[in-house]
Amino acid sequence: MKPSRFFLSLFLALCLMTPAFADRDTVSQFSTIDALLAGVYDGVATFGEALLRGDFGLGTVNELYGELIILDGVCYQVRADGTVHVLPEEETTPFVMLTFFESDGAREVAGLKLAELKTMLDSKILTKSNSPYAFRVKGTFQKLKLRSVAKQRKPYPPLAEVVKTQSIFTFEELEGTIVAFKTPAYLGGVSVPGYHLHFLSKDRTRGGHVLDLQIKSAEIEWDEGDSFFLQIPDDPDFQKVNLEKERSNELDTVER
Ligand SMILES: [Zn+2]
Repeated sequence: MKPSRFFLSLFLALCLMTPAFADRDTVSQFSTIDALLAGVYDGVATFGEALLRGDFGLGTVNELYGELIILDGVCYQVRADGTVHVLPEEETTPFVMLTFFESDGAREVAGLKLAELKTMLDSKILTKSNSPYAFRVKGTFQKLKLRSVAKQRKPYPPLAEVVKTQSIFTFEELEGTIVAFKTPAYLGGVSVPGYHLHFLSKDRTRGGHVLDLQIKSAEIEWDEGDSFFLQIPDDPDFQKVNLEKERSNELDTVER
């Protein structure tokens, strides 16, 4: 074949071999929750890179600069002063979990507290104990207790120390969306086993990591994952940190 044809064929073959996007039912994560607990807060990927793997997710920002919500492909940072900022694609993240949200079903709920919501999800909706799920809860919340954390400086303290100075925000009668995952227990150490919820208000001015809530009325939609992708950071701090230690007690202090 002519050289031009050869290069065209080669180009097409390479395009087919290199998927530009992750499988849409894959839950992807950059770095591990235990590395974050241990204080590995330097960004390991840009949000531009992360968004190739999803449009819906949660995590944090370089230097642990607040809580992160990814909704409809937009990255929102909730700082410790409670303000919400849209992040540029060049900004980096030390920990993010995301997927392409494609609803597998929907259900209307009303008047649920957080524990009741989890019980209902476990028994009726997110019933496969060993599969990851993304879910969102969109509606009006009677009560919300959210938190964010302040930007850190090196040497970074562990996350259990940082949350001692976390900011807590409480709201009543607020409209918005919970962005959340339910992760199987066997991914403990890598991810947050069980439930992990972040919130963003409808007007995009308030949000954070959810400590408590009460739903007034809302629609729950869910998306079952069929695979889990972990990006291992090419980062000196990540490679030095001790990830043999059992950190589930620290995680309880930090996330709940
Ligand atoms: Zn969180």
